[in-house]
Amino acid sequence: MVVTLLGTGTSSGVPLIGCSCEVCRSLDYRDKRLRVSVHILIEEKSFVIDTGPDFRQHMLREGINQLDAVLFTHQHKDHTAGLDDVRAFNFLQQRDMPVYGRAQVLEQLQREFEYAFAEFRYPGIPRLRLHEIHNEPFSIEGVEFVPIDVLHHKLPVFGFRVGDFAYLTDVNHIPESEYAKLQNLDTLVLGALQHEPHISHFNLREALEVVELLKPQRAYFTHISHKMGRHSLVEPTLPSHVKLGYDGLKLYI
Ligand SMILES: [Zn+2]
Ligand SMILES: [Zn+2]
Ligand SMILES: [Zn+2]
Repeated sequence: MVVTLLGTGTSSGVPLIGCSCEVCRSLDYRDKRLRVSVHILIEEKSFVIDTGPDFRQHMLREGINQLDAVLFTHQHKDHTAGLDDVRAFNFLQQRDMPVYGRAQVLEQLQREFEYAFAEFRYPGIPRLRLHEIHNEPFSIEGVEFVPIDVLHHKLPVFGFRVGDFAYLTDVNHIPESEYAKLQNLDTLVLGALQHEPHISHFNLREALEVVELLKPQRAYFTHISHKMGRHSLVEPTLPSHVKLGYDGLKLYI
């Protein structure tokens, strides 16, 4: 399995429009963070988790020309805004794009992209096939995904485990009932926003506590704000098996 971190930035992306802090002015490519998403390539099947506003850029940068399904963690705009661009894959693959999410996510997609679900559809709009998921394992094209039901302040969010990889972003609480699904991980990609506490995201200290508790072989943080500081200065402060993610990083699992 190859997991590519497509974007590792918080909702505004980094740099932030109008900000001149040292992170936003940094020339280090690891300080340039598009909105979060990951690509999973497994058994020649290709999946993305979330299609934020930078989805098109992600696909072009990584040269992804096959996409078998889209999975959604939750309905925030920084995770959904780019869904229209899956129409490129509709043209390439000549089929509807399977989309997986919980009921509330699918309802919001149908409101935000109402034209894609209209009875009389303009030619060229995205063709989406919605699949509702619950907190139980499901398969897409023979690949098993295990949802992990977590909280983002009060909003339920799904993380996903595939084999020995788990992806958990936009989370500040993991119920104990979900811990069993997160044992014996090779790689955990986990949201860690900044140093200061936040109402709906783990901060760096809390994310490190989660890593300590779950004991994956290695962990990478994502959904990072400019307030985290420069990549090159923060990463050396972390334990050796914990890193900050950066856009384009490939993880071989
Ligand atoms: Zn987000
Ligand atoms: Zn900044
Ligand atoms: Zn969110």
